[in-house]
Amino acid sequence: MKSATTPMNYEPERDRRPQFWRLAMRCAQIAGTVDVIFFFLFHALGSPILAWVNVVSVAMYAGAYYALKHHRNRIAVVLIWAEVLGHAGLGIVLIGWESGFHYYLLMFIPAICVSASRKWAIYALLALWGYYTALDVLMWYIEPLQPIHQTALHIVHLFNLSVVFAMFSYLSSYYLRMVVTAQRKLREMATTDSLTGLFNRRHMTYLAEKELARFSRSGHPVGFLLLDVDHFKSINDAYGHETGDRVLGFVADVIREELRAQDLIGRWGGEEFLAILPDTDSGKAQASAERIRNAFLARDWSAITGGDADVTISIGVSELRAGEDLSAAVSRADEALYRGKTGGRNRVELETI
Ligand code: GH3
Ligand code: MG
Ligand code: MG
Repeated sequence: MKSATTPMNYEPERDRRPQFWRLAMRCAQIAGTVDVIFFFLFHALGSPILAWVNVVSVAMYAGAYYALKHHRNRIAVVLIWAEVLGHAGLGIVLIGWESGFHYYLLMFIPAICVSASRKWAIYALLALWGYYTALDVLMWYIEPLQPIHQTALHIVHLFNLSVVFAMFSYLSSYYLRMVVTAQRKLREMATTDSLTGLFNRRHMTYLAEKELARFSRSGHPVGFLLLDVDHFKSINDAYGHETGDRVLGFVADVIREELRAQDLIGRWGGEEFLAILPDTDSGKAQASAERIRNAFLARDWSAITGGDADVTISIGVSELRAGEDLSAAVSRADEALYRGKTGGRNRVELETI
């Protein structure tokens, strides 16, 4: 769970784009490096034309990288497309289909699918398919213009196959990581309160239901604390809503610090929190509540508000009873809290039997 002082602002669109372009930069780097290797490979294999084609390719990837770095994404995309289509086409026409240069074209399929709109993706995929099959058919009818030795051709084929294999593996694992991260963020957004980093009310209700089920199986006690910041409205009035928000973040921190890792803490309403304490009877829950109340008194709130007002909390305590539902246990804690408020605030009150 995130710290209360760093609220989570998840912006999917702004998150996804830079990630995609960062990946494009990485690909331009890798492809440029592969082309440097090609330069030497083709020299060694006796195909100087293809060797010099790679110098142009490296320049194009360097240009694409530079463009991406300066957010000229469109130019970069044009350069990368031109390089891959041109390089694959030339490689095949010069030394033949068996060179395996066509494999590189297939790498555009996932790239098109994730980056273009549905309509443009269909056009681009059709164009790619047309280009791919045209090259294939062309090579049925013509001989390679610059054939190289059969062994050299096998080496080029294996090299291309291995590079494409490695790049597909890299891209797939990158996309998997992206999806897992997005899923985690979505789950976090659905279950936590962005201001305090605590569970939100919906998730607390879900967790409470699970705790209730566990209670009915094991009979272990479950304690409930309903906590409400005293006179919070006057904190907002005195220091402003933004400071009020910061105070709420620190309130959440204090509660979290005083409870155990297995205790469930959620933001129940505006300045109201619910804590569910597994394996805790009302006596122990009351002691925990007192600990929290005292921690509020010990905290230097002036460092947060810049003023001299202290922040105190009132807490109602209840214990789950056999056969009852969540709302019954919470409403008894609420009654106790109400007594805490009417009794002068900054108090812990236990439910009445
Ligand atoms: P009491 O001691 O009786 O609880 O008094 P109170 O002022 O805390 O209670 P009241 O219900 O009158 O006011 C709660 C205030 O909490 C009013 C509301 O504007 C403020 N509040 C609720 N949610 C937020 C929030 O997310 N941020 C800020 N800054 N204030 C909030
Ligand atoms: Mg209040
Ligand atoms: Mg309240």
